[in-house]
Amino acid sequence: SLTHTTGGSEPTLSTEVDDPSHPLYHHRRIVSDFDYGDILGEGSYSTVLIGKDKRTGKQYAVKRLDKAHIVKNNKVKYVMIERDALSRMNHPGIVKLYWTYKDNRSLYFVLDLARSGELYTYVRRLAPFDLETAKFYAAEILLAIEHIHERGVIHRDIKPENILLDDSMHIKVTDFGSAKIIDENNQQEGEDTAGTRSFVGTAEYVSPELLRSDRVSKEADMWAFGCVIYQMLSGKSPFKAPTDYLIFQKIKNLEYVMPDEFPSAAKDIIQKLLTSDPEQRFGSQTLGGIQAMKDHPFFDGVDWENIFNLTAPPLK
Ligand code: ATP
Repeated sequence: SLTHTTGGSEPTLSTEVDDPSHPLYHHRRIVSDFDYGDILGEGSYSTVLIGKDKRTGKQYAVKRLDKAHIVKNNKVKYVMIERDALSRMNHPGIVKLYWTYKDNRSLYFVLDLARSGELYTYVRRLAPFDLETAKFYAAEILLAIEHIHERGVIHRDIKPENILLDDSMHIKVTDFGSAKIIDENNQQEGEDTAGTRSFVGTAEYVSPELLRSDRVSKEADMWAFGCVIYQMLSGKSPFKAPTDYLIFQKIKNLEYVMPDEFPSAAKDIIQKLLTSDPEQRFGSQTLGGIQAMKDHPFFDGVDWENIFNLTAPPLK
């Protein structure tokens, strides 16, 4: 991920919630409430372990963040945003944050366990997905994005690496470290709370408006969503190049190839999502919002109400 910031001062590092109106204030937990097992993965500032709740036996993914490392690298703000954005979420397609706690060295986030790993792994190994499978995952991702936006958050780093899969191969969107919390009544981004200008996200999925340094809005997630659909159907993201600079050139010039073999409904929705002007992009309020996307022929036959209870199509 790319994260560049200038200005702003770092708040003190604690994710312990002392505000009783905060969703995480109640039912506090401590390190010794869990038994820790296998490492699920490592990030730049964190290690994710299996954690078993001693009281209930339920297993979670416990993200352990090294405090000294975070402070040293000026990442305090992103850890706070991740906690605050995640704690607003309550959706089957999004990793849920149950509790946070700390000890002298570390902060801990107790999260839904997504045992089957990243969608990225499956895309790399198995793409192109068949249309039914791509449609299923696209629909789940769209519902997750809809919830994120409804809760006043822009994710800003939607990509297959951040879409995890649980035991039953349903999605759990994760990684809110690049998220932006927006005023629910105001769809546009204002100044960052700390008075900073920031560039966040991942080069290949960055929207053209971010490269033009316009204000970033929810539509940026729709651009990335278009890239993910393309990638599931072809095996590679639409704007690939050897360097970030060349990727940005391609994005600015809308330089991508639509494979002939894509079904026509897929071509249509991808083209509508990979639109440079966010106001003309599919999913924007002017074009009927997310409902208009759900009604697109690409999603014909999707059971929107029930999809998270269905058996996932096979990923062979
Ligand atoms: P970076 O911080 O460098 O951007 P990251 O975002 O992948 O990396 P983490 O969020 O700490 O860092 O995740 C590290 C790895 O742990 C992930 O790549 C993923 O494979 C695994 N992981 C993260 N969250 C979960 C989860 N809820 N369930 C299962 N595995 C997870």
